Amino acid sequence: LNRRLTEFGTTIFAEMSALAVATGSINLGQGFPDTDGPEEIREAAVRALRDGRGNQYPPGPGIPELRTAIAAHQQRRYGLAHDPDTEVLVTAGATEAIAASLLALVEPGDEVVALEPYYDSYAASIAMAGGRRVPVTLRPHGGSFRLDLDELRAAVTDRTRLLLINTPHNPTGTVLTRAELAAVAELAVERDLLVVTDEVYEHLVFDGAEHLPLATFPGMRERTVSIGSAGKTFSFTGWKVGWVTGSRELVGAVRSVKQFLTYVSSGPFQYAVAEALALPDSYFEEFRLGMLARRDILAEGLTAAGFEVFRPAGTYFVTTDIRPLGEKDGFAFCRALPERAGVVAIPNAVFYDDREAGAPFVRFAFCKREEVLREAVERLRGM
Ligand code: PMP
Ligand code: GLN
Repeated sequence: LNRRLTEFGTTIFAEMSALAVATGSINLGQGFPDTDGPEEIREAAVRALRDGRGNQYPPGPGIPELRTAIAAHQQRRYGLAHDPDTEVLVTAGATEAIAASLLALVEPGDEVVALEPYYDSYAASIAMAGGRRVPVTLRPHGGSFRLDLDELRAAVTDRTRLLLINTPHNPTGTVLTRAELAAVAELAVERDLLVVTDEVYEHLVFDGAEHLPLATFPGMRERTVSIGSAGKTFSFTGWKVGWVTGSRELVGAVRSVKQFLTYVSSGPFQYAVAEALALPDSYFEEFRLGMLARRDILAEGLTAAGFEVFRPAGTYFVTTDIRPLGEKDGFAFCRALPERAGVVAIPNAVFYDDREAGAPFVRFAFCKREEVLREAVERLRGM
């Protein structure tokens, strides 16, 4: 492995899912639903496959039906207009969207400011692009993890090229507020920065929190690359269909890179996702309400089991503090948890440069059936 990447071994998700399988534990580690997305959308994929749509290389930027559906979805939900021909790109999941965006926009030596804890592929993708990551740590404050805007401003230097934002935020569940996003946007405009914003959990916001795309803020349309994922929004993480939207110039740059990463994304699933994006608003609301009910089961159960719980305003993850249990090392705790309780979770420290700062936090996913969550909670209470 080259020197840029030696610090990245096996991703924690692979490691912890393997541990879950090996120990027969309930896997609340890696974030994937245990119930597949809508039947009619699975049928749409089967139809495409059977009818010979997408079985050969689809167009590089994605099939027109899907690009049009992505643009229509953003128009309908957020009033954001994109030209499907030039301002939308279909990717192999959000993971490729993130990598291609950074490879397209970061020069070697550029600094990329990212919220910490950060989704693990951010660090690796910044490194692949030859950039330098500069974390700005979200800190616990009044029951949730908050962004300190002064710290964010102080992190920007003359070498900063790009802000990498994620809202709703994995793993903390924080949803950036209108005021916070406005401040991020102002900073980007003032310092002439590009922004890559990972909004894959756009439909999972709770308790009155609102998902506001950064691209809707003044001055942002032209400097922002926005990322979405059908894996998250429709519970098909195995399909690996994601997308990028933004200006013609920025999306064009990401498109250039995607050509040489994967060339195209898998064909038949694109037809199905195009149909999924046109589902009525009731689909998105039911999906959200289903996750909200599960969040409450897990959050209450973890509280009863003695964890300090940061009740998430978004995503399908709950971050906890294990210190009330007399524990302080999330790594050790997660490695022992299958044996102790038959449950797998993720140590948030893997999402930090400052491992010390992340040490006491552990993440549990709640994109699981209610009875699975109840059983997990039962086990954790009994440990
Ligand atoms: N960004 C975030 C914040 C995520 O949590 C995930 C995935 N789970 C991804 C990106 C990757 O999405 P995909 O599976 O579409 O590649
Ligand atoms: N995004 C998912 C999570 O945070 C996992 C994706 C992956 O395994 N790479 O759990």
